[in-house]
This record gives sequence, structure tokens and C-alpha cells, in this order.
Amino acid sequence: MAENKRDYYEVLGVSKSASADEIKKAYRTLAKKYHPDINPGDEKAEALFKEVNEAYAVLSDGDKRAKYDQFGHAAFDPAAGGGSGFGGFGGFGGGGFDFGDIFSSFFGGADGGSRARSSAIDGEDILTRVTVSFEEAAFGCKKEISFARVEACGECGASGAAKGTKAETCETCRGTGRVTVQQQTMLGYMQTQRACSACRGTGKIIKTPCKNCNGKGYIKVNKKLEATIPSGIASGQRIVLRGQGSAGRGGGQNGDLYIEVRVRPHEIFEREGDNLYCEIPISFTEAALGADIKIPILGGGSESFTIPEGTETGSSFTVKGKGVPNINNPKRKGDLIFTVKVKTPKSLTAEQKKLFRLLADSLGEKNDDGKGAFKRFFGKN
Ligand SMILES: [Zn+2]
Ligand SMILES: [Zn+2]
Repeated sequence: MAENKRDYYEVLGVSKSASADEIKKAYRTLAKKYHPDINPGDEKAEALFKEVNEAYAVLSDGDKRAKYDQFGHAAFDPAAGGGSGFGGFGGFGGGGFDFGDIFSSFFGGADGGSRARSSAIDGEDILTRVTVSFEEAAFGCKKEISFARVEACGECGASGAAKGTKAETCETCRGTGRVTVQQQTMLGYMQTQRACSACRGTGKIIKTPCKNCNGKGYIKVNKKLEATIPSGIASGQRIVLRGQGSAGRGGGQNGDLYIEVRVRPHEIFEREGDNLYCEIPISFTEAALGADIKIPILGGGSESFTIPEGTETGSSFTVKGKGVPNINNPKRKGDLIFTVKVKTPKSLTAEQKKLFRLLADSLGEKNDDGKGAFKRFFGKN
């Protein structure tokens, strides 16, 4: 589980404000220390090596680091979703990290270059936000979502070559996109594979670039789509629309679209989980004698509720099933819990004051013998 994972900064032994250089330096030191070639058969070292690499994969990438700083491990672990039923902000490259590129930059490929490289690149996940009213969150709604994503260029069908022309096979790498080079690394002299610079690793040379995408094959487009916001969603929870993120390349999968929901506060109600809370003002006499009072219900209407005589200010009462539908099971609803607040009458007429004094006398509320100050704590008038 994500909770058991060590903090990435802790793993690399750097501060949260560490510069890219500091992170790189710490990574180099630790990766060298725990490298399997240096610690053959040492499982502990191997585990630490993996941990260090995972931390570096995130912290060395500006975007991933920002996401990690904001969401922690939940940003990358699909299993950690705060129980919302939607999963976390996961799915970078299908859950796992491809350490190949990091390794190759330092070690010339940890896999010794034996693993076949795929040119498939998964599309990026996109996070967007939408604000809904308190009622919309409680009962669900449809919302138009605006966001930008990368799509295959419609003009050239993602080839990057202008209409009527074709991308040609790169002669430098013979279309493989990679070239083999000798490289001096801190672990010795190694033969490594690198992206071909002539074709920037694509294996293809475009002579006449498509004007629509400037030869990139992909363009950023502003999209709008209608998303269904489920009933019972809470502020900060996310909806994921699989495959609605940026387009994958070379057979890679499309990214996902995450919609983070912000819920506007309500004038009367507050929400905690599926329960609703509100404060109901009642009069002096209602508190003393008990009363049938009307309780407002979210979404409209009201419910009658009998408060008993002798109700204290601050007492809470529950109206069963008048809360918010549970997000995972809309048939199950929370409760409405209201707290009564006894209003002290103000601006009394002379006649009303007289009546209150008569009432006080009748209740024996004389409080002038010094001991009265303590009596009130024990309820004896
Ligand atoms: Zn194009
Ligand atoms: Zn090439």
C-alpha cells in the first residue's frame, strides 16, 4: 500500500526544496551504492536500488515532482484513492515506471540493452477542475468540462508529413531510431544505445512537414465534453474518464482525464461524509414547552420534527435518511443532523417584560443571596 512507501525525498536523502542538481547528485551516489552489479545477489540492496530509482523517476521530472508534492504517493498509485471509489491520480505509463531512460543516461541501460525497446509512448494524464453547487454534488449533475489535450493531427494522420508526402526512413539509424555509442560511465566503459539525433529517435525524416502540426504529428487542442458528476461526490474527489487524456503515440495508450470536483458551500447546510448538518433557531417557549418545527430539507421542501419540552440550546436531533446519497451506493443516504439554537428574545415590550418577571418569580429564580450564583450550576432553583 502507498502508506507504507517511504517519502521520495527521504529515499534520496534530500530536502523538499532540493534543486534538480542536488537530486541528481544524491541519486548518482545512492544508485551507485546499491547498484546490482556492485551488490550481486544482495536482495536488500536491490530493493533499495529500485526505491531510489523510483524516487528519482518522479523527482527528476518537473511535472511528476509537482504532482508528487501536491498529492504524495497517491499521485502515482492507482490503489490509493482515499476511498472515493475512483482511484487515485495514477496511470503514468500504465502504473509502472520505465527506468530505461534514466539508466541509460547513467549506466548505459541497466538491462544491458538486451530488452527490446518499444517506441510506444502512452499519452499524458490530464487533471482539470470543475466547480459544482452543493446540491449538484449531493444529487449529481452533468457538467461541461473544458480542457486541452494532445491529439493526433487530423491533417497528416499523425505522420507529421504534409498531405501527399511521406516520411522517409532515417539513413543514420536505418529507421530504428537508436544508435549504438561507446560511453565512459562511472561504472566503466560501456556500449550504450542512444536516441538517433538525426531523426530524434523517430526513425523517420520528414522532408515536407505538415503545416497543421509543424511536422510533429500531434497538436494540442481545446476540448469540451459533458461529464456526469455522480451524486454524493465530495469536494476534492476526482472522476476519471479513461482514455480521454492526451493521445498515445506509436501504439501507446491514451492518457486519462481526471476531473477534480470543487463543491461550493451552502447557505444553511454543512456536510461531513454523507451526513448533513445545520442549525435551527427555536424560540424560548419552543425550547421550554416543546414544539413541532419545520426542518429544511436539501433539494427543497421541509420535514416536521417534534422537539421535546425542556430542550437545551445546542441539543442535536437526527432526521434519518435526509442526508446525501452515498457515492458508491446512492440508495444509502446519510442523515440530517440539526442543532437547535435557542434565541433569546430581544426588544421586549413593558408588558412582555412583566410577564417574564412573573414567570421568573414562579420558577423561583431569585438569585440575590450569593449562593444563587452556584445554585444555577446544579439545576436547583
Ligand atoms: Zn499534421
Ligand atoms: Zn535516425
